[in-house]
Amino acid sequence: MPAETHLFLCLKDNYGVLLHDPDTGATASIDAPEAAPVEAALKATGWKLTDILVTHHHGDHTAGIAALKAKYKCRVVAPAKEAAKIPGVDEAVREGDEVKVGKLAAKVIETPGHTLGHIAYWLPKDHLAFVGDTLFSIGCGRVIEGDAQMMWRSLEKLRDLPDETEVYCGHEYTSANIKFARTIEPNNKALAEREAEAKREIERGLPTIPVTIGEEKKANPFLRADVPDVAAGIGMAGKPAVDVFAEIRARKNKF
Ligand SMILES: [Zn+2]
Repeated sequence: MPAETHLFLCLKDNYGVLLHDPDTGATASIDAPEAAPVEAALKATGWKLTDILVTHHHGDHTAGIAALKAKYKCRVVAPAKEAAKIPGVDEAVREGDEVKVGKLAAKVIETPGHTLGHIAYWLPKDHLAFVGDTLFSIGCGRVIEGDAQMMWRSLEKLRDLPDETEVYCGHEYTSANIKFARTIEPNNKALAEREAEAKREIERGLPTIPVTIGEEKKANPFLRADVPDVAAGIGMAGKPAVDVFAEIRARKNKF
């Protein structure tokens, strides 16, 4: 049976998400921003926590791990390159490793840039990807530990996933991201459509994610640094994609 997901808000604007295998009952929390909302989500769904899949070491993705592990004795899977900074790690994983949640199979994709060891979990059969703070809807994470080259390469890897892949990211930043994206591509029709759609969702109190890779490719300026019109639009025609990406990221930091 296909994977099931349950999305909920944590902290101020973090997303928590549960990934559930209906065949075996196995349930993973993708990151653990704080314990209470994860427990409330488990209660609401009736699912039992078996695993926590961590994307990176930041506190707003890991602060709930210790309490959840103590209560549910769940397995904690985390990036090998950041395992020392994450509490309670049972399994440290790298690029290409497979992580099972019950019968569901996730592939580990290393996406450094936001942090040096950041990873994403991709479930090819279920067309799902959990990308933490690397890719946001119409945005991307701040390049805190890595550099622009590293982050651009990581975004290219996520962009290469099949168009139908549904992406779950770590934060609800879509509205602010769209405002910024419109300054980079004011004439992008797909972006204008996404703006109207996100507005409707937010007005109804709905999350703006998941989004598909196919939709993001059309409207997310951070995935479009190698589109000639995007470069030309910010006065960088003919410049390498990584330089265009770095400029867009720098503008967003000041926006
Ligand atoms: Zn982060």
